Amino acid sequence: MVKDRFLGYQCSLCSAQYSPQEVTYTCPKDGGNLDVILNLEGLKGKNLFEWVNSEESSLWRYLPLLPLQESMGEGTPFRAVGWTPVYRATRLAEDLNLNALWIKDESRNPSASFKDRASSVVVARAREIGAEVVVTASTGNAGAALACMAAALGQKAVIFAPKTAPPAKIAQLLIFGAKVLLVDGNYDQAFDLSVEASKTFGWYCRNTGYNPFTAEGKKTAALEIAEWWLTLRKQTEFGKLGVHPQKPLSIFVSVGDGNIISGLHKGCKDLAAIGVLPGENVETSNAPLGVRIFGVQSQGSAAVANAYFANTEKITPVSASTIADSISVDLPRDGVRAVRAARQSGGAYVLVSDQQILEAIAELGKIGIFAEPAGATAYAGLKKAIQSGLIERDDPVLVLNTGSGLKDVKAAMQAVPQAPIIEPTVEAVKNHLPF
Ligand SMILES: *Cc1c(COP(=O)(O)O)cnc(C)c1O
Ligand SMILES: [Zn+2]
Repeated sequence: MVKDRFLGYQCSLCSAQYSPQEVTYTCPKDGGNLDVILNLEGLKGKNLFEWVNSEESSLWRYLPLLPLQESMGEGTPFRAVGWTPVYRATRLAEDLNLNALWIKDESRNPSASFKDRASSVVVARAREIGAEVVVTASTGNAGAALACMAAALGQKAVIFAPKTAPPAKIAQLLIFGAKVLLVDGNYDQAFDLSVEASKTFGWYCRNTGYNPFTAEGKKTAALEIAEWWLTLRKQTEFGKLGVHPQKPLSIFVSVGDGNIISGLHKGCKDLAAIGVLPGENVETSNAPLGVRIFGVQSQGSAAVANAYFANTEKITPVSASTIADSISVDLPRDGVRAVRAARQSGGAYVLVSDQQILEAIAELGKIGIFAEPAGATAYAGLKKAIQSGLIERDDPVLVLNTGSGLKDVKAAMQAVPQAPIIEPTVEAVKNHLPF
């Protein structure tokens, strides 16, 4: 029964289908990203709460909707990925003139970013197929996540990162005991090198927008959001929130390669396929999944948004430059599905400047959330979307903080004024009062 759950893959470009044994990464015909096809028969028509394993406070509570045989890593960081907290951001909502705003804090994952979701599922897959070594190219977070998950299970990991990656991320890679190779080049060059190395040495490659299992891991955030949203809507307080009862939840997420947003979309589509989310006609509904997904990019790294605005699925590479290193990508590896995620869910793309990203870091800080630049980008995008009329006062909104501010302290320090250095006297303190 469990064995039949993972049926194979379907190419997102040419729709060709493959069995699990036929391919490992992308479509052999056109290089398209592959969607994992699952056997959802057993779940169809069932209430989400009937099949979720509520004893698991991690992404493994959704195992029945993952292409894996079993959860593993009992009592380790591996088992602790996901099930991240959702905070009600009342003061920020007031500032933005919104009735209800929530932040889902992915910095609470074991390696402090959203990437743990993908890496745990890929490492689980590596174990199932008996891969000895896992490898990835990374701007830092994907590598840290893979190294962390591999360490938790005693698996060997090789990480290629640009030598310019923030030091805290490189420290994580080294501390988790991965073989770390810093590439004298950008992320895109590290990516190509890691694929070649994986072919040469037979390593199992986790690369974002290349390995189909990453989106399966990332979709678990959508499953959590759906479970949280369905639970919230049942509560009597829901009516008092001031959100329009018919309006879909609007989710904001930052986009680099486009794999997180594609994973969120896949999660919503899987839920629609079994009847947990609406799944109306894409042509006639403005939010067919009952959830709208908004992608946010930095103006300096906007290849996916450019395609969205040009109303095409053709991704043209840019020469990326942004303070948000985790979303600094010349050629997004999951661009086509990322464009579709916003378009097909009734969401949109939004662009923000580095200055707006820095302001967003400071504003999230004031409610107790420390985001790295790429994490705060989603919140900056929400502000932009409100300004341009995409989001209205009674829209329910959830913003994902995808990574911890501790990963890039240098960027954080640019978001706030410096602290004064004073003589150790009360007189000196008085000079700085009132505050
Ligand atoms: C990787 C990453 C993103 C973007 O994810 P993509 O799949 O590349 O679009 C956003 N924020 C953080 C913190 C990340 O590490
Ligand atoms: Zn194809």
